[in-house]
Amino acid sequence: MTGQYADVIIDIAHEKVDKVFQYRIPPALAETVYPGVRVHVPFGRGNQEKVGYVVDISKETDYPAEKIKEILGVDEKGMSVEGRQIQIAYWLKSQYGSTTIAALKTVLPVRQKQKALEKKKVLRCLSAAETAQAALECEKKHQRAKARVLAALETEEKLPYELVSQKLHVAAATLQALEKQGYIRIEKETCYRNPVRATDRRENRPVLNPAQQQIIDAVVKDCREGHPGEVHLVHGVTGSGKTEVYLGIIEQMIAMGKQAIMLIPEIALTYQTLLRFYKRFGDRVSVMNSTLSAGEKYDQIERAKAGEIDVIIGPRSALFTPFPNLGVIVMDEEHENSYKSETSPKYHARETAIQIAALCGASVVLGSATPSLEAYYRASLGQYRLYKMKERPGSSVLPAVYITDLRKELKEGNRSIFGRKLRELMEERLAKKEQTILFLNRRGYAGFVSCRACGHVMKCPHCDVSLSEHKNGLLTCHYCGYQERKPEKCPTCGSPYLMGFKAGTEQVEEAIHREFPKARVLRMDADTTRKKESYEKILSAFADEEADILVGTQMIVKGHDFPGVTLVGVLAADLSLNRNDYRAGERTFQLLTQAAGRAGRGERPGEVVIQTYQPEHYSVVYAAKQDYEGFYREEIAYRELLGYPPVEHMLAVLIASRVQEEGEKLGERMAELIRREMGEGGGLCVIGPAEASIGKLSDWYRHTLYLRHGNYQVLVEAKDKLEHFCKEHEQREQTVQFDFDPMNTY
Ligand code: ADP
Ligand code: ZN
Ligand code: ZN
Repeated sequence: MTGQYADVIIDIAHEKVDKVFQYRIPPALAETVYPGVRVHVPFGRGNQEKVGYVVDISKETDYPAEKIKEILGVDEKGMSVEGRQIQIAYWLKSQYGSTTIAALKTVLPVRQKQKALEKKKVLRCLSAAETAQAALECEKKHQRAKARVLAALETEEKLPYELVSQKLHVAAATLQALEKQGYIRIEKETCYRNPVRATDRRENRPVLNPAQQQIIDAVVKDCREGHPGEVHLVHGVTGSGKTEVYLGIIEQMIAMGKQAIMLIPEIALTYQTLLRFYKRFGDRVSVMNSTLSAGEKYDQIERAKAGEIDVIIGPRSALFTPFPNLGVIVMDEEHENSYKSETSPKYHARETAIQIAALCGASVVLGSATPSLEAYYRASLGQYRLYKMKERPGSSVLPAVYITDLRKELKEGNRSIFGRKLRELMEERLAKKEQTILFLNRRGYAGFVSCRACGHVMKCPHCDVSLSEHKNGLLTCHYCGYQERKPEKCPTCGSPYLMGFKAGTEQVEEAIHREFPKARVLRMDADTTRKKESYEKILSAFADEEADILVGTQMIVKGHDFPGVTLVGVLAADLSLNRNDYRAGERTFQLLTQAAGRAGRGERPGEVVIQTYQPEHYSVVYAAKQDYEGFYREEIAYRELLGYPPVEHMLAVLIASRVQEEGEKLGERMAELIRREMGEGGGLCVIGPAEASIGKLSDWYRHTLYLRHGNYQVLVEAKDKLEHFCKEHEQREQTVQFDFDPMNTY
């Protein structure tokens, strides 16, 4: 660390984190002052000595140098839990770009200290025998109420205040009198809000198979030998028993006196999932999610610090739970997009988990049926350890998959959204009283244009991404800015049916009512699940077989186990294929594979129908074969060819401006600065600035600049330069955000 000034927060109380004070670092302390350490500083007019935390180091200061005070000393007690949290905040800020405040608020998520929930207790001050004696004496004096309290306290050292006042009918004045006499003490005890409800803890523990046991043993051995930050990737097909592996690892960590963070995508955080953890670990488990109140969240953090819980389950924000002795961070469904933060700092939970694990001496376990290209690539380079689980335990087998070519259906006169194979199998299910899931990926709505007759998709000639249709009739590439007018006819086959694909879950529901009038249908999408509990309600109604068919968007393919489902239909696989996005192929493969994995989870084997306009697309072909490796080889070759993540790294700079020209100008100056100071020769690629795909949002004009390089730290350096530049040229009504290895395009 080369700077001479330290930013210090004096009070860790969370509401004060936006008050940062600058101090000079005396040369003697240059080596020992870094983000996260506790320092002694003079504070206020009287220069009273206070303890603070260093949150950042810088070379320059905004104050006149003579006015700046000097750090007095470094606290010798070593790194505290809070200090480590601050270290993590500093890492987030430097790796992903954000303000110090935003980074601190990410790791100290509850800003205000919440009022603790307190309960009054009545405690005896004397021994059991003495208390019994005192009770007798009161009885003799006909002080019945006092006698009742003391008699009750003979067997119990302390009692809840309400119990004494209400069940024993003792007045407050009587208790005060007893307290004065020195017989009892009334105390307030803090009790933490515990969102976990007590449950029946009987569970069916399966006997682990060798593949499962081997993974648990390897992770635990690794932890014993101490390789902080070691990453284990479990690639296991859907239903192969990954959750059992996580439970086994966590159990052993707890036995070693360590704690565990269990990350799952918010959408998969269902009661079903939680129950498995509660049954295994009881009330030593807690959850963290967006439905908890601020008070509940604060309490979970306090309980974790106090060693009251061993496991926290939650979405990416649960990563910042301050455990005193963290053993493992498990990340289920590691490929999920929701692991990337959408607000600044735009961190990815995977990389952040690895950093936290390295700091805490913990291990990381990633699990997925369809690992992200990132994770699999790192594993192929030997940076992560890879384990495979290829089979489902017991009699459960992977489903049979059929592909329906929708172009052929149209040619042969079928204009329904149900191809003939899907219709036939749906009828069969209705007759046999088995259940069907119909899946429609509405995410791909963004307006890609394709030919209904031949499946041709309008693409950018320079970028190999699909063009988006804008209201003005122009087709635009969001990577390079290329534009063309939408042709009247398909350039491949001349058909006039060249259009944006539009079909929502509501239309599907209507079509079912029309074509299968007897079927009972449930629909699950963003509209029907707006209310918190409606999501669970729909799922449990379907699990109770109150409907024959469930129609939904990607939210239904996540982690749910419906034993009655033997058929899954994907209505239009192309919807996610043609996003103007280099991750479109990966996302489609993941969705199709996960959707297929929903079929035949019970005793009866399952079938899957994938309907598509592009049956030859590799994402569709490999998903149908459930061949991850085949897909990976093809996809990674494409990323290598184009220099996209994970092979190279990409930094998206998003500029928002009230005045359109100003935003564009700022983008151009930034691009110029990078070209001038870092040069494009050394493998650094600067693309843009260009108008963002959503060019205007709430009256803010958006422009993007993309930088690409094989070395992540080169992009961090570029980000630092741009941050510095923005600080000096700061304008009102302009914001700049950074997004490393973005999950979506802007
Ligand atoms: P995943 O997390 O990979 O989808 P789960 O751990 O949920 O898989 O396991 C799927 C089903 O198989 C669950 O019902 C689970 O109880 C059961 N299961 C897991 N491991 C075994 C095993 N070794 N023997 C028998 N059943 C198992
Ligand atoms: Zn065509
Ligand atoms: Zn292009």
